[in-house]
Amino acid sequence: MLLFSQPPPTRYDLRFTLIGIPVRVHPLFWLMTALLGASSGSLIGLLIWIPAVFVSILVHELGHALTMRRYGQVPQIVLHIGGGLTSAEPFWWGNRPVVVPLTPGQEVLISLSGPGAGFLLSAIVMGVAAAVGGSVGVTLLLGILPLPVVGFSVNLGIAALIANTFLWVNVFWGLINLLPVFPLDGGNIARTLLIRSDPWNGARNALRLSVASGAVCAVAGLILLGNPFVALLFGFLAFQSYQLLQGNPGSGFF
Ligand SMILES: [Zn+2]
Repeated sequence: MLLFSQPPPTRYDLRFTLIGIPVRVHPLFWLMTALLGASSGSLIGLLIWIPAVFVSILVHELGHALTMRRYGQVPQIVLHIGGGLTSAEPFWWGNRPVVVPLTPGQEVLISLSGPGAGFLLSAIVMGVAAAVGGSVGVTLLLGILPLPVVGFSVNLGIAALIANTFLWVNVFWGLINLLPVFPLDGGNIARTLLIRSDPWNGARNALRLSVASGAVCAVAGLILLGNPFVALLFGFLAFQSYQLLQGNPGSGFF
């Protein structure tokens, strides 16, 4: 999510294939995930956090990848320091690499499929929790962000921790991912829609929107959430969009 392009391969990459889609996990993915989970303050919390983030990001990227495959592209997934990235493998047209072109509607559906897969996984977690006698409720984060929470009787405490970690990662980050900030899925959706309404200025307007909403989210993350990680993340993304906006038109973005 945070990188526009893939990090180079390393000898410590974990590689496997899932439903025919090649997956590569860069070693810094584990480091970043562990650092993010360290704030949970307990070893058991961290031991649940790392596999939960791994599975959740994989499900998110699989959502993108399966939709891309449906539209004729050959997807590949990389998990890296900034999350996950699903891209289309190019095929060679003479000596030129090309990817199967998509319509704007297909591009939007591919972007929506990532968070959508996470919301589906959350619905399954809530369904299983309810089926085994747990309670399912919703809290409102900051009064606006709905966050489902499950509860069990005391002897299922670990199960509740696992379920709630999955719900937090998939619902909270799924919603964050839909904000119109690059290169989050919401930023890509905004770019596609703005280019469609104004082919000449659309990409530039999407970057302006990304700078403004990224800056607002950075301030909100710090003041409302009290979360310096969210503030730093959005501050970095707003700055990255600002740099792209200043960059030359030949950078490939426009
Ligand atoms: Zn995504």
